[in-house]
Amino acid sequence: NGTVVAAEWDGVGRTSDGHVVPLLANVGEAKGAVTAAGLRAQGVGLFRTELAFLSAAEEPSVARQHEVYAGVLAAFAGLPVTARTLDAGADKPLPFLTLDGEPNPALGVRGLRVARVPGPGSDVLDRQLATLAAAATETGAELKVMAPMVATAEEARWFVARCREHGIRSAGVMIEVPAAVLTAHEVLAEVDFASVGTNDLAQYLFAADRQSGPVAALNDPWQPALLRLLRLLGEASATTGTPVGVCGEAAADPALAPVLVGLGMATLSMGAGALAAVGASIAGASLEDCRERAEAACAAVDPAAARQAVAELAVKQA
Ligand code: PEP
Ligand code: MG
Repeated sequence: NGTVVAAEWDGVGRTSDGHVVPLLANVGEAKGAVTAAGLRAQGVGLFRTELAFLSAAEEPSVARQHEVYAGVLAAFAGLPVTARTLDAGADKPLPFLTLDGEPNPALGVRGLRVARVPGPGSDVLDRQLATLAAAATETGAELKVMAPMVATAEEARWFVARCREHGIRSAGVMIEVPAAVLTAHEVLAEVDFASVGTNDLAQYLFAADRQSGPVAALNDPWQPALLRLLRLLGEASATTGTPVGVCGEAAADPALAPVLVGLGMATLSMGAGALAAVGASIAGASLEDCRERAEAACAAVDPAAARQAVAELAVKQA
């Protein structure tokens, strides 16, 4: 009857009619990667490389970086591992990279911007890309690299060119700034893939600090305005043929996952603990069911109405 319990998930993400949606893990270091591989992640959709270096007073040596990157890549030999270049700044300051005294760090020199302003960031990026490429060759994982906080097609082109200089064949961007969604055709034309960071995309869409409890309701991933942005991205992905996945918290919500699939998202990446439940949820819906749920959620007036409309549809479709 279309419903599948979590225990039945067989480790391959697909809808009930066989539309494949690889389910990937978000990781920060080797131990988490090994755990995720044990939970049958089909690869890594977001390796937050900055997490290992949050307390580093100086740029970690190439040897130390190599150890961290190879540790994660080795857990997924033969599978895709998407490493994000250092997302320094805002909620993840790195003492050796982040500027002091910015009045609004979330709107300041953060993510890819660190590599594009005068200072050490550009060289740090080159050393990171070279080290990632070397670690991938050694471990046999399929390395993909993406940049955080990309706002324009020009930034995307610049980053991809940098990756190519290091022999990185699959280069992409995170979509977490609304401007990048509104120019999705141009941005996607520059890259091999993109991945939506719904945590930051919601923050910048609603002008609501992701770390602020009192405005948390605005950052609800069921907000129809956020889902409508994802719909634009799904349409641009279909037109350009560039795959777009989701690696923000939204992808870990079993009820929302079929909606994301229906919006045209190609992969879902999440904390590994959510893999079985999300896998079971999408296995319980056909691609057409997912599309109907996506339309209903986008048409809703607020997050509660979106949740209810999707829950009712799921019962009807079962
Ligand atoms: C996001 O912004 O949704 C994301 C996946 O990246 P991070 O949470 O690390 O900023
Ligand atoms: Mg982010």
